[in-house]
Amino acid sequence: MSNFKENNMGGDSLHGKCHDKKFAVINPTRMCQPMGAVQAMMGLKNAMPLIHGSQGCATYMRFQLIRHYREPIEVASTSLSEKTVIYGGELNLLKALKNISEKQNPEIIGVMSTCLTETIGDDVNGMIKKFKDVNIGKNLPAMVSIPTPSYAGSHVEGYDKAVLSLIKHFARKMIPNNKINIILGNLSPSNLAEIKNIMKDLNVEPILLTDASENLDAPLTEETLELHKFGTSLEELRDTANSNATISVTKHNDSGAKYLEKVFGVKSISGSMPIGIKNTDAFIKSISDAMNVSIPKKIIRDRGRLSDVLVDAHAYNYRRKVAIFGDVDMVIAMARFTHEMGMIVEVLCVGTESPRFKKDLNELIDDMNHKPIVLENKDLHDFGMVLESNPVDLIIGNAYGAQIANRFNIPLFRVGFPIFDRIGAQRISFIGYNGGIKFVDAITNTIIDFYYDEEGYKFADKKLSFDTQSFETHI
Ligand code: SF4
Repeated sequence: MSNFKENNMGGDSLHGKCHDKKFAVINPTRMCQPMGAVQAMMGLKNAMPLIHGSQGCATYMRFQLIRHYREPIEVASTSLSEKTVIYGGELNLLKALKNISEKQNPEIIGVMSTCLTETIGDDVNGMIKKFKDVNIGKNLPAMVSIPTPSYAGSHVEGYDKAVLSLIKHFARKMIPNNKINIILGNLSPSNLAEIKNIMKDLNVEPILLTDASENLDAPLTEETLELHKFGTSLEELRDTANSNATISVTKHNDSGAKYLEKVFGVKSISGSMPIGIKNTDAFIKSISDAMNVSIPKKIIRDRGRLSDVLVDAHAYNYRRKVAIFGDVDMVIAMARFTHEMGMIVEVLCVGTESPRFKKDLNELIDDMNHKPIVLENKDLHDFGMVLESNPVDLIIGNAYGAQIANRFNIPLFRVGFPIFDRIGAQRISFIGYNGGIKFVDAITNTIIDFYYDEEGYKFADKKLSFDTQSFETHI
């Protein structure tokens, strides 16, 4: 890393030792805003995301999404070139809106800006208006401008902005619907399906913002690539203004909920991601209170099964040191859950900074009675440097953590986005009690596979970071 000038001014880790700061990002733990907005668009029915920027932006997003979900993904582009950078991208955007409207006939086109178009200052709203003005009388799709300047925030903010823009564009006050809006964030189809199962068990009808559960884990068919047939409909987006409440399952994705509360009086509840016992309890209670429904025996039984697997797996997981990186809300919730599993949360790394993350972190530290090393607004280079002097038994994060795990000869448990080096990213579950059961099974088996032989004896040459006499012989 000698190419990067370093100094000792950094030292901004919240807890733990100071860390040299670089003037570059090496292996970021976050992606750009339009990526998050495209992910939100993937959960809409009959909709097309359009990236207003260079061809490379749309190609990069398609590439990441396809290799993660292993599904065909359509992302349109206005394909800006050097000339359009100088003269503006209006002509390209108007052409793209015409082509998509005529050839694919979606109900919704979401237009995401990029680094380039934000920097040159393209007025996307004005261009959409111009397109509508010259096509008066035609049956046009709804066109929603989603401002996603990629030099700020991350894909998490991109998802948030997409949901906010969709709600602002479509939500209309009509008659109360006795439903609950749930803003989901970038969750796997399996995790989304688990949220839907919980709603079914509670006998509550949700409007999911947005629901990619079927679009991104679809059966094999002989149909050619077309717009998604499932997901949140335009009518549901309109109806969000008439629900009893909106729950954001990730705190950093609650702008749409706050807007609905301010403009339409729909109560906003920002919770922690329902991962593990405590967070899932809070999520279920929030829905039960907002919808005035009682918690059925089935859910209580699922909670009991998760508690049971925590006890079953405890001997393997107790005091195993874990390092977690990824999206802010997921990292905090995952840290709490691994603490519930008996692990020691040693290092946390996120690619952004946020007061809400700090607040959640302080609550977590109080509950754990232990201060992990926290890297905020850091990259995987920083993460690897910290692990050199703070060994852990397991890393939890996306596929970009594989090189670091190999370097330290420890397992990487893959969660988050992207996961391109394994099959089944869309079926990874950790949400709710049932997702939690699958998570504990999988993570414990990873530890057993790596650190124990087939009879349950620890491998002598793969020493865990914490060994005690009582656990050293065999389980
Ligand atoms: S960071 Fe900017 S240039 Fe790169 S893919 Fe995102 S929007 Fe495009």
